[in-house]
Amino acid sequence: MNRLGTVLATLALALAGLASTPAASPSYAGGVASARPDRPAVLGVRTLGRSVQGRKLVAWHLGQPGKPKVVLIATMHGNERAPRQILESLRDRRPIRGVDLWVVPTYNPDGAAHGTRKNAHGVDLNRNYPYGWRDLDGNYESGPRAGSEPETRAMMRFLGDVRPKWVLSFHQPLVGVDLDTKRPAFAHRVARHLDLPAKRFTCGGACHGTMTMWFNHRFTGTALTVEYGDRPSRRLMRERAPRQVLSIWGAHRVTG
Ligand SMILES: [Zn+2]
Repeated sequence: MNRLGTVLATLALALAGLASTPAASPSYAGGVASARPDRPAVLGVRTLGRSVQGRKLVAWHLGQPGKPKVVLIATMHGNERAPRQILESLRDRRPIRGVDLWVVPTYNPDGAAHGTRKNAHGVDLNRNYPYGWRDLDGNYESGPRAGSEPETRAMMRFLGDVRPKWVLSFHQPLVGVDLDTKRPAFAHRVARHLDLPAKRFTCGGACHGTMTMWFNHRFTGTALTVEYGDRPSRRLMRERAPRQVLSIWGAHRVTG
């Protein structure tokens, strides 16, 4: 790209950051200039859709296009809010190299606003996906049908568009990395880097319609669940875990 092209691309990025139109595609072409002077790690922002109560679902694009594509998702259950600090720390600090990274810190914004596991329809988003879906009630209320919830459909569109090689879905409070996935060797690698035990969670005995199952079935990439404890320290969430997450792919923040 020549100098004028670079200037125009930078302008387009700045405008994209101001406009924040719903469901807009990122209006940049793989450049690594930041869209946000206040957030130098951010390459772009995408609104994936809206929650039941109209809150935006937002994905932040970080890292280095051309490197392995990774999506990190937190707060799928609105009462499991600690791990989103990991994603916010990655978003808010220095630029990241070595991975093409998207973070969705607050996947269930209505649940987060109300401190509830489920969305505003009372549905467990992690039982609403159209793979192995079953009509479940109680803690795992799966909704009236597969993909009934706007949050589910927004994430399906996003993952289908980005097609990440790796997806980590952060939860609490079971402490561990789920071995029940397509590539157990990867689960062991994640567990080692995050200093968590590798375990089989078996979806609390209700492996129906989960996001990771759907993704693993539908795409060539691998999705797995990471569970922190009930009250992980702020220091772990904001300082250590972000570095550990990047180290899984040999990625790092720019220094200096
Ligand atoms: Zn959870």
